[in-house]
Amino acid sequence: METKERLHAILDQLPEGILLIETANGIISYANPTAAQILGLPLTSLIGLPLDTYPQSYRIKRINGRLIIPWSFVVVRALCNETLTSQETLVVRPDGSEIITLSSSAPLYHENEENEEKMHTGAVIMFQDVTAQKSLEQQKNDFLSMISHELRTPLTAIMGYVELLQMTLSNGEQSDMAQTQHALSRIGQQCERLNSLIEEMLDMTRIEHASFQVHFAPRDVLFLLTQVIENQAKTTKKHQLRLVLEGLQPHENIIAYVDEYRIIQVFNNLINNAIKYSPYGGEVEVGLRRVQETTSQAVIWVKDEGIGIPEQELSSIFRQFYRASPLNNSISGLGIGLYLVKEVVTQHQGRVWVESTEGHGSTFYVALPLMESANT
Ligand code: ADP
Repeated sequence: METKERLHAILDQLPEGILLIETANGIISYANPTAAQILGLPLTSLIGLPLDTYPQSYRIKRINGRLIIPWSFVVVRALCNETLTSQETLVVRPDGSEIITLSSSAPLYHENEENEEKMHTGAVIMFQDVTAQKSLEQQKNDFLSMISHELRTPLTAIMGYVELLQMTLSNGEQSDMAQTQHALSRIGQQCERLNSLIEEMLDMTRIEHASFQVHFAPRDVLFLLTQVIENQAKTTKKHQLRLVLEGLQPHENIIAYVDEYRIIQVFNNLINNAIKYSPYGGEVEVGLRRVQETTSQAVIWVKDEGIGIPEQELSSIFRQFYRASPLNNSISGLGIGLYLVKEVVTQHQGRVWVESTEGHGSTFYVALPLMESANT
């Protein structure tokens, strides 16, 4: 095989995109298949294409506050005799999709054997698609700023109440018992909020490292649900929490094989969300019924009259960090709760799903397998 063919065969296999551009006419004289894939054009159209006719090749964009230069600038700099390494660049493909690339480029020379002069004949650019890494980096940054915001909110409240108590004491004021009690109870609530935020984050890490453990034992689902409702009812004055038992007696045993702590966490998350996403108050219906499919199951639902979820986002809300669009940051949260709910329910061989109408409320359902003895 001739050296040139061999070289092309090697370049054709590279996972990085490679282009050669001629100085004389700015035409792309060689491209490998990866370059064609990144640039979103068939190889046959790319080879022979003048650089300046590639669509939107000179568009500069601001991404996350930083200007990203177009990939073609890196080529132009090499055509002007400069060598560039690892520049973050942007490719806007003909179909409008955007790819972030890491590009390096260098001028190419041809040595004239007769007069030993070096002629600048073109430029080579090598680029790799780093869009996925960039988006991961972005997600991480978003998450960190969201966490700092979420942690700061309860901390600010705690600091405020502590200051208030200190002032009262240092002024030697006869402290008002009711006011002190109120301040302490608010501090307690905010500490609980901090604790649950930290627990959510730790649980997420545990799931990712496969160290999220569940310990199953027979438990009465109705009893656990009643306990959670009682506790959640204390956290709100604007909402009425109502337990609905469909086809069940108030003290019937609904026994499932569950991790008590985790199932309480699931009920808490769903009821807490129902309250949180009904900012103007209203009724929260928590229901339980038994259904007999191939096995016996308990179906628990939590229905609110809150802001609801846009239809097109319903399938995304169980994803890590996903927060639905109508929120406009006005309701705080990390976007982890439902991800944990789904993980826990799945580990119990159960199912979770949601029905919602934007502006009218949502109903979350959890189906949990019941123990065989409960069938009868
Ligand atoms: P967080 O509440 O911390 O944002 P979750 O994982 O619990 O995280 O919920 C993910 C998203 O699903 C929320 O940000 C919200 O957009 C939406 N959501 C969850 N529960 C409800 C609800 N009852 N009503 C309306 N939207 C909800």
